[in-house]
Amino acid sequence: VLLVGLILLFSGAARASESLQVIATLPILKDLVQVVGKRHVTAISLITGFESEHTYTPKPSDIRAIQDADLLVEIGLGLEVWVAPLIKNADRADLPIITTSKGVPLLMDDGGEADEHDHGLGNPHIWLDPENVKIMAAWIEAGLSAADPGHQDDYRQNAAAYTSKLEKLEKELRARVASLQKKGFIAHHPAWPYFARRFGFIIKGKILRQVGSEPSAKQIAKLIKKIRAEKIRVIVSEPQLNQKIPALLAEESGAKLVSLSPLPGALPGTESYLDLIRYNVEALIAALGGEG
Ligand SMILES: [Zn+2]
Repeated sequence: VLLVGLILLFSGAARASESLQVIATLPILKDLVQVVGKRHVTAISLITGFESEHTYTPKPSDIRAIQDADLLVEIGLGLEVWVAPLIKNADRADLPIITTSKGVPLLMDDGGEADEHDHGLGNPHIWLDPENVKIMAAWIEAGLSAADPGHQDDYRQNAAAYTSKLEKLEKELRARVASLQKKGFIAHHPAWPYFARRFGFIIKGKILRQVGSEPSAKQIAKLIKKIRAEKIRVIVSEPQLNQKIPALLAEESGAKLVSLSPLPGALPGTESYLDLIRYNVEALIAALGGEG
């Protein structure tokens, strides 16, 4: 009985380790890995949707997860400043890394002087445009196929099926935004240039130049004046950041406050990337006054 038990135990362990262990830096990447890899992968994300991608403080469990991983998936562009020290501490210089921003057409922030948000490389929030996510999914497909060539047909089919879903959602949402009278909003931080361009929204201003910075009283006063003068109806806040200044701006200017999330999982009904994009577009449409 003991022998049978041991055999079962070991065969169970062997089966579990047959799936690729993939570490994603962000929950959006975890979702893409699961969509493309399905039952052949086990994916975890280092940060949750409630943390900021810019300011994460790694935990000891992150080092252990990286020690056991087969692959790591990142955005790149200097966004995950916290990931290189983790790989070093885990002693995993050999860990294959899939950088999903390669080949994505980039937008620069308009910060001018010493822009710490785009690192001079390009705004990192590429995933908020489904067209960019097609490129990102293709990198993930290639990375999974290289690590596990036996299932490359599955990875290719899963990525192709997902691309169709992205296109369908994008087309539907773009048509709905096109019928809006007013499309302008004030952003909490510069997370939205790819999103706004793809769906047809207009970013009229931003509260923070970078996560961790604070606007001066003078900058806040200027923003309130602008919101009133240009009759900007909506201020977007992000659940990962301090709500105080967006709330103050809304109160002082009479603009509506709406919460949109750059990451899945922070707001109800945004667990997957497709749901997140739908949620963000629909919430913004509603805040701007609705369609028609
Ligand atoms: Zn950002």
